[in-house]
Amino acid sequence: MAQLSDDAFAFGGELMPVDDALALMAQRVRPVAGVERVALSRADGRILAQDLVAAIPLPPFDNSAVDGYAAATADLDPAGPTRLPVRGRVAAGHAAQDVVSGSAMRVFTGAPVPPGADIVFMQEDVTLQDDGAVSLPAGLRAGANLRRAGEDVAAGSVALPAGRRLRPQDLALAAAVGAAELPVRSALRVGVFSTGDELREPGEPLGPAQIYDSNRTLLGGLLGRLGVTVVDLGRLPDDRASLERSLRDAAAGHDLLVTSGGVSTGEEDHVRAAIAATGSLVFWRLAIKPGRPVALGVIAGTPLVGLPGNPVAVFVTGAHVLRPLVAQLRGETYAPPAGFPVRSGFDYRKKSGRREYVRVSLQAEPGGHVAVKHPQDGAGVLSSLTETAGLVELPEDALSVAPGDAVRFIPFGLLW
Ligand code: AMP
Ligand code: MG
Repeated sequence: MAQLSDDAFAFGGELMPVDDALALMAQRVRPVAGVERVALSRADGRILAQDLVAAIPLPPFDNSAVDGYAAATADLDPAGPTRLPVRGRVAAGHAAQDVVSGSAMRVFTGAPVPPGADIVFMQEDVTLQDDGAVSLPAGLRAGANLRRAGEDVAAGSVALPAGRRLRPQDLALAAAVGAAELPVRSALRVGVFSTGDELREPGEPLGPAQIYDSNRTLLGGLLGRLGVTVVDLGRLPDDRASLERSLRDAAAGHDLLVTSGGVSTGEEDHVRAAIAATGSLVFWRLAIKPGRPVALGVIAGTPLVGLPGNPVAVFVTGAHVLRPLVAQLRGETYAPPAGFPVRSGFDYRKKSGRREYVRVSLQAEPGGHVAVKHPQDGAGVLSSLTETAGLVELPEDALSVAPGDAVRFIPFGLLW
């Protein structure tokens, strides 16, 4: 069986390694999206369009990192405790009224360091005397418990680089340097089609030989998580003329088109021919499993990704082609997820020259986590995605994996 289906692919020419496909994409695709300014509260997940240069230093002024007492090291005895009278008090949000000289000043976390002071003692390390003076221990250096102006971010430096996909911590940094809004790339408009005469909508009655379309739901959700505007373009029949018409029409109004199904070499697979007829084909077969038939084309300047029909192949090849393509189109800095090493809990044989992904769950064991392979590896088995935690990536040059071998695990949450 397996050999037969391999032969079916064989007359289509060489399989392209995933990295070569990514390099081609990087050459061919330029960012398209415009730029808009949005409030920080609306910027989570958006792509920063220009470097954010800090207008002020962070922190803006030298301040105390603790509740305690500020002093001048010149007043301290390096050999033993120093007794100093306490003069003045400064809390967060207020300026010191006195200068520290021959005395200590009560300070609170976040308060400006009073003039003359270059050290702060934590209140826990200080002994209060009956007359209100404090005894400060020896051994603390100048600068202790101080947060210097600009130590986090220097004024004029790049606080956030263009291309960053903004996360709450990035937005917090923008807020901390006083930016109320940020220039971000306009959301990409991505049109999603399914192809196949067998497909019906969930909720409709199912006829003989029909299945429900799950790929549009999958792709809508995955793309939605990326923060693009997903346009549901419905289902297309396995008919070349109507495919060509629909693709040509859709190319005009979208930044990217995505199809699933119909991209293989069967007589009923018309997507590749429709791309070639209406635009140009960049590649259409990748050395990846599950997957293989994955087309990248350009129709009237709009890129189109033709994903395979099987849902697991959509998920895996989408992560490797669609995800980086979205990044490229919106000027996003993106690196494929690195994952982390775990021990294999399974035996596996594979072909050289092809990258393979195994659906696994993780089991915690005394020696570390073990990747447990899902019992079903068919590319159409959707429950193999719902019952697992991520993918083990087996590189092109690997031939086999045995239990106990180190393998790279990529959680689903890092892929999309
Ligand atoms: P194809 O590449 O068109 O031959 O499709 C491969 C397999 O994926 C076939 O079993 C199709 O029925 C199935 N398939 C294609 N599109 C979808 C879809 N949108 N939802 C669920 N299964 C699909
Ligand atoms: Mg089909």
